[in-house]
Amino acid sequence: MKIASIKTHAASIPFEVPRVTAHEPMRAASVILVEVQTDDGVAGCGQIHGAPIKEICEWVARFGEIVRGMDALGHLEVWERLFSLTSPRPGGTWGRDGLPPPLPRAARPQIMAAIGGIDIALWDIKGKAAGLPVYRLLGGANRPVLAYATGGYYRDGAPLDACAVELASSVAAGYRAVKLKVGGQTIKDDVERVRLTREAIGKDTLLLLDLTGAYGIDDCIAFARTVEPYDIYWLEEPLYWYLQPADFQRLAAATPIPLAHCERELTRFTVRDFMTSGAVRFVQFDSTRHAGFTESLRIATLAEQLGVRIAPHQAPELHAHLCAAFPNASFAVESNGIPDPLWSGMYARRAQIRNSCVHLEEAPGFGIEIDWNFIDRHRV
Ligand SMILES: [Mg+2]
Repeated sequence: MKIASIKTHAASIPFEVPRVTAHEPMRAASVILVEVQTDDGVAGCGQIHGAPIKEICEWVARFGEIVRGMDALGHLEVWERLFSLTSPRPGGTWGRDGLPPPLPRAARPQIMAAIGGIDIALWDIKGKAAGLPVYRLLGGANRPVLAYATGGYYRDGAPLDACAVELASSVAAGYRAVKLKVGGQTIKDDVERVRLTREAIGKDTLLLLDLTGAYGIDDCIAFARTVEPYDIYWLEEPLYWYLQPADFQRLAAATPIPLAHCERELTRFTVRDFMTSGAVRFVQFDSTRHAGFTESLRIATLAEQLGVRIAPHQAPELHAHLCAAFPNASFAVESNGIPDPLWSGMYARRAQIRNSCVHLEEAPGFGIEIDWNFIDRHRV
């Protein structure tokens, strides 16, 4: 079974109200679907969440030419060939082996995103070829996978308790764990949002806080101490983007609240250092942002050995397969309390979320079918 062609389909739908974090307003839900066709008619679908969309699609197209004709079931060989292009090799600068020269450093995020989308499609193909869902290929069982609801984004001019009302509605809809965005206001106002949210969701709901990289160490320690009374399950992306495992260790030593991190890491190698430092207790690597399902598997394998729990960022319909394959090492997948319009419409079939859990199906591969008419209406 050989890779015959690779195509991308990008779609985007603007939010009615931007979803604002401490770092940025998100104005639209966007996805790049990666369609890999094999020479014997099996098609697999991967997906990428990244930007700029055009640049990522161009990398997928270039990589499609490079891996065409390779074994579609040989995901490691495909991954390694593409990843190897990111570093020097003998004679590589002149392209003597027929492959491109070492790829530009500045494009690494887009390159790793493109590798990831192709890799996910190959896992979909592998499942379809075997007639098994991906989690079964990996030895997992079909048990509900815990999902938490992300929400409580900032809204300009909204009262401080708007986040509490919203996340209480997620609890009313069945969620047992919710995540609130913080870090974008003064500590005083954010702590008030946390207090109001805890009051609204009750004491039995897990409350996670996402800081989107809002603090240096001292301010983060101060923030953590102030929210400790509200029984916080984790602090996510607590520190400035440039701070490293040693900084996370200092923070972890100063607060009993566990830390979650790594949704923006490009490879397993930096994730490894966050995990082995002992500071990060939940690892959020996102295979749809960078490096794919293969890299997620490598990270989950190490997490299991280190007692770190996996909690993949977004794409619950895909990442639930990973959690099902690592039942003892996984906490939950992320979902949106208010589903985004793209996720709600783009599938003709996917795993459903009910009662705070993803319920996987027995359909082969990732068990998804795309509604191509819907994608056509929102193409970019
Ligand atoms: Mg996050």
